[in-house]
Amino acid sequence: GGRIFSGMQPTSDSLQLGNYLGALTQWVALQDTHDAIYCVVDLHALTVAPDPRVLRERTRRTAAQYLAAGVDPQRSILFVQSHVPEHAELAWILSCHTGFGEAGRMTQFKDKSAKQGTDGTTVGLFTYPVLMASDILLYDTALVPVGEDQRQHLELTRDLAQRLNSRFGAGTVVVPEPYIVSATAKIYDLQDPTSKMSKSAESPNGLIELLDDPKVVAKRIRSAVTDAEREIRFDPATKPGVSNLLTILSALSGRTVASLEVDYEGKGYGDLKKDLADVVVDFLTPFQERVQHYLSDPSALDDVLAEGAARARDLATPTLERVYDRCGLLPRR
Ligand code: ATP
Ligand code: MG
Repeated sequence: GGRIFSGMQPTSDSLQLGNYLGALTQWVALQDTHDAIYCVVDLHALTVAPDPRVLRERTRRTAAQYLAAGVDPQRSILFVQSHVPEHAELAWILSCHTGFGEAGRMTQFKDKSAKQGTDGTTVGLFTYPVLMASDILLYDTALVPVGEDQRQHLELTRDLAQRLNSRFGAGTVVVPEPYIVSATAKIYDLQDPTSKMSKSAESPNGLIELLDDPKVVAKRIRSAVTDAEREIRFDPATKPGVSNLLTILSALSGRTVASLEVDYEGKGYGDLKKDLADVVVDFLTPFQERVQHYLSDPSALDDVLAEGAARARDLATPTLERVYDRCGLLPRR
């Protein structure tokens, strides 16, 4: 049991396979055993100044992809972050307990801001991990299913939670644990197999986008970077490209990497890529039909999100009131 919280940013028209294998698959599985809350974190997407119309569209598309993957709004709470204003309110409190240097040490901020320059980098991008901590702490979350790239942000969230509890008394907030499944915690870019696959990557060529034309996806898999050897062997240090393909094939086929290595003995990279492309296309085709089904009725989708927001707000309000009170803010009457 226990509370689960996680979210994804609507920063692209489509999620990528790393989002699906690293996070969404775990979200769906955890619904059976936990009290789960899944969010489309649209306020986070504002850190990169999206076009307003595009953001609105991407928010619905992200929610539709959660549903198509198997997030069940009967069993879990599914909502949009900006519909629950307590996220932004708790983030302010947390930002007043976050060191400037502490926030500056976040590697994702360093990477993303290095690409954008000082004036292209917003204060919002800098405080993004604080908003993420707010998302999590607002729901007394025990477990946060995410990919490996979020480990450092989770560590910050835990530090902030412990800091609040020591300044304002035990039980002010719940200290969460990350839930990171190592086999699929980091799916790599097909063209640059030492960097993580990201939906907002500069070039789409290394991405497997869940809503892309299956023919394009198959082509990208066939063009994936491998190495100069011929052997199909799982060895991330010396064969990152091939290892990434094996990880993806294993996750989607349910077969172990060891049994795949045995199967591909004496075969070539072309065989592995062809089989992987088939497995990915077989997965994507029905997935995309389900997404189209949810997108074909935006008002039904908005109803699901509105109901989720109401349920989320009922849980968020008491947490925010508790924190406000313990910080010394005068109660509202
Ligand atoms: P962006 O480039 O906009 O940051 P992203 O692909 O990193 O996009 P997020 O919305 O930041 O996606 O993250 C959503 C979830 O997917 C998080 O739990 C994150 O850890 C996970 N995730 C992202 N990329 C990968 C990956 N390559 N492998 C495994 N998990 C991933
Ligand atoms: Mg990301």
